[in-house]
Formats: sequence, structure tokens, C-alpha cells
Amino acid sequence: MFDGAYVCPHLAGAKVPSLNVDCDCRKPKTGLVDRACDELSLDPARSFVVGDKYSDVELGLAVGGQGILVLTGYGRGELEWFGRTWSRRPSHIAETLNDVADYVLEELGRDG
Ligand SMILES: [Zn+2]
Repeated sequence: MFDGAYVCPHLAGAKVPSLNVDCDCRKPKTGLVDRACDELSLDPARSFVVGDKYSDVELGLAVGGQGILVLTGYGRGELEWFGRTWSRRPSHIAETLNDVADYVLEELGRDG
């Protein structure tokens, strides 16, 4: 079950003028996470952003949480082709989403 869904419809250079916006919500910018944390009373420091792109990892780290790279989808290619250029390492690299779930549960259990 989801408490919310947050989407950035903007894209610099989009043909629809109203969407051609340099917004604050396109990852790795933090606008969507900031809004979700406000509306859902979430602590970004205890949150995880999971994705197969480095921009997902950057977003998680930018809000003070964890950025997890999953190697499915684009993830393995992102790591192999671009990993050496990343300014910050992912908090965790997981083979599958099941591995992500195990990691997150372990991390949350660590906090008590
Ligand atoms: Zn946006």
C-alpha cells in the first residue's frame, strides 16, 4: 500500500510549454521528497531512495537519507559504465529488489 505518489511532469526542452520548466522536483533535485516528507511526516534521514539510476542515489543522499542502487534495469550498466565517475558512492548496491528489502529491514531494525 502506498501513502502517496509524487511525479515530476517537467522536462527542460519539453514541447508542451507548461512542462518546459526548470523545476525543483526533477531528480536528483529534492522537491518531491521534500513535499512527501512534509505531507506524510516522514524523516528523510530515515528514508531510502531506491532506483536503477545514479540520479536516484543522488536524490537519496541529497535529502540526508540513503541512496540505494539496484542492479536490475539500468543499474548494472550505470555502475559499470559510470560508477567510477560518481562523486559519492551509493549507500548500498543490491542485486535485486528482494535484496533491497532485506537491506532496508536490517537498517531499520538497527535503529530500534
Ligand atoms: Zn518537476
